[in-house]
Amino acid sequence: MKQLDTDVAIVGAGLVGSTTALALRQRGVQVVMLERDLGGSRASGVNFGGVRRQGRSAAQLHLAQRAHPIWADLKARIGIDGEYLQSGHIKLARSQADLAALAAYAERVADFGLGLEILEGRAFRERYPCFGPEIIGGSLCPGDGQANPRLVAAAYARAARQAGCEVIERCLVTGITREGDGFLLRCGDAVTVRARRLVNAAGAWGAEIAAALGDDIPLRVDYPTILVTEPLPPIVSVNIGIEGGGFYGRQVERGNLVMGGGFGVATGDGASRPDSGALPRIGSRAAAILPALRHARVIRIWAGIEGYTADKSPFIGESAAVPGLFHGFGFSGGGFQIAPAVGEVLCELICDGRSSTPVEAFRPDRFQQQPVATRKKP
Ligand SMILES: Cc1cc2nc3c(=O)[nH]c(=O)nc-3n(C[C@H](O)[C@H](O)[C@H](O)COP(=O)(O)OP(=O)(O)OC[C@H]3O[C@@H](n4cnc5c(N)ncnc54)[C@H](O)[C@@H]3O)c2cc1C
Repeated sequence: MKQLDTDVAIVGAGLVGSTTALALRQRGVQVVMLERDLGGSRASGVNFGGVRRQGRSAAQLHLAQRAHPIWADLKARIGIDGEYLQSGHIKLARSQADLAALAAYAERVADFGLGLEILEGRAFRERYPCFGPEIIGGSLCPGDGQANPRLVAAAYARAARQAGCEVIERCLVTGITREGDGFLLRCGDAVTVRARRLVNAAGAWGAEIAAALGDDIPLRVDYPTILVTEPLPPIVSVNIGIEGGGFYGRQVERGNLVMGGGFGVATGDGASRPDSGALPRIGSRAAAILPALRHARVIRIWAGIEGYTADKSPFIGESAAVPGLFHGFGFSGGGFQIAPAVGEVLCELICDGRSSTPVEAFRPDRFQQQPVATRKKP
């Protein structure tokens, strides 16, 4: 049996675990990161790849703004640019009510300087001839963009390892107990880790890790679905969302359209797959929004696994019930863009007891004794 002793143990080598590990190593903190599969192989590596600030709550925009310059600096930080592209993100409107909601959002978050531009009528149509007649306008955030999650998530795990973090993959944490002021983690009979502090970056499994230590945090698990088309000629350069949700899409440089909408199903043992209606559902929405896709062939479809909270904001911070346990999970379908900032924030909370970015809104105990969210409609 491998026995380790460390300052900080991290459960989960997704983007949140890896960005935290990297930040801690840069402060000279000893870190062991335990991952049941491969680093970045879960939500962090199979998501849509939207690097989007637009649409986030004001509370989340503090984190999103902190993450924003990191995306442009990935090469210096993790050795690759992750195919990050500041393509812009447009949130589309199908009605005047949608346009009014987009304008109200732009006003609400004006202080963050996102540079949102509301487009409609002829100006919209001339700039974006690709959209179908049911789309009447949209809100453009020119500084938002997209990246390749498969590259970014794995590269962060690699960078954490290169910075001196011990990353143990194929290592399912099966037991966690308190030991003195710290924690004892067990991965079956293979590995034990003694740690003074523990980071719960277990994604959709975050509530299970918390519960193992008696911290009761409500989390709903769901399975967002993504599909990819064959490579097509250039159709749309901007990352697309839609007011009210239900569809998102982007075209990568190689020509493939990556699109998503709705949720799949669990298949047991931590796996998931799209539901049987996924293909026609996403396909028909796509063809209405981008008529050029009417005859596009789909080459790949999958469903990821993500943890959702009742207010769609994550849990970030030290557990009120278990001192020394720091949570970073429940990203509710929006953790990719903010993860680089979340890692820095968790590192500050662990090392300094406070963060320079406000994260009070993400207190892990904010729902205690409140019901879990109902399932979101596909
Ligand atoms: C299909 C899909 C599309 C999305 N699209 C976007 C998007 O466009 N933009 C955006 O900002 N966000 C998006 N998200 C959300 C984003 O991907 C997640 O919020 C983010 O990746 C969460 O990172 P994480 O590190 O918390 O979770 P994960 O990447 O899931 O990492 C958690 C890790 O913990 C490990 N683990 C769990 N339990 C244990 C255990 N007991 N022992 C050891 N290891 C364990 C898991 O194996 C996993 O690797 C999307 C998510 C999905 C699923």
